[in-house]
Amino acid sequence: MSERFFVAPPVAGERAVLTGDEVRHLTAAMRGKVGDEIVVFDGSGGEFAARVTAIGKQAVDLAILERREVSRELSFVLTLAVALPKGDRQKWLVEKATELGVTRLAPLVTERGVAQPTEAALDRLRRSVIEASKQCGRNRLLEIAPPLAAVDYFAAAPKTAARLIAEPGGQPLAAFGANSDPEVIAVIGPEGGFAPAEVAAAKNTGWQAVSLGSRILRVETAAIALAAWAAIGRATSE
Ligand code: SAH
Repeated sequence: MSERFFVAPPVAGERAVLTGDEVRHLTAAMRGKVGDEIVVFDGSGGEFAARVTAIGKQAVDLAILERREVSRELSFVLTLAVALPKGDRQKWLVEKATELGVTRLAPLVTERGVAQPTEAALDRLRRSVIEASKQCGRNRLLEIAPPLAAVDYFAAAPKTAARLIAEPGGQPLAAFGANSDPEVIAVIGPEGGFAPAEVAAAKNTGWQAVSLGSRILRVETAAIALAAWAAIGRATSE
């Protein structure tokens, strides 16, 4: 895949501008020059062939040559609702979720959660989504939803979706076969596990508890294991 750059705001018309980290990526890392042809995407679905027309310290001007509709999205909506782990493990989770095609990440506030999903933390995660999308070829950005208390999230989630909560001792995933639902929501608890009242709130509103095996996985391992099961299990059965 050729070098990809992210542009914000959405491309409209025949010109676009790279700013911030994207300028450094083109000039320092790629040694880009005026006249080079690159691929840009704005997160809204398509990608664009573009030519570099001017290089400044703060901005790189581009002429848009062509819009191409290239979707590398899953064929269904996959939401991962997670009590986020701390620091680098949070970043790792978001990077891998983006690669696997997760549609939306919903940060959960739980009784035993450790990391507060602050606006600054969520902004850092949005940057990780862009970096991972540049690398893996996604043209639509994984969406980071506003944080919600787990019990409220359980009550509000659409009942038409397959709603799975990862919980040691739950049903084996094999019992679910290759899913064919239009939407899958996978929930992962915090390092200390969900509180009994949180698990009860999920079960009472129709969520199914699923097991990820007989070992206790860290939050990010559990999240990526369940996302991979949903994303790749479905993709290979199509
Ligand atoms: N301290 C908890 C485990 C927390 S692990 C306990 O001992 O029960 C963090 C989260 O990852 C859990 O809330 C669950 O959602 C998920 N998880 C980890 N290992 C799992 C497994 N083997 N099966 C299902 N879910 C698991």
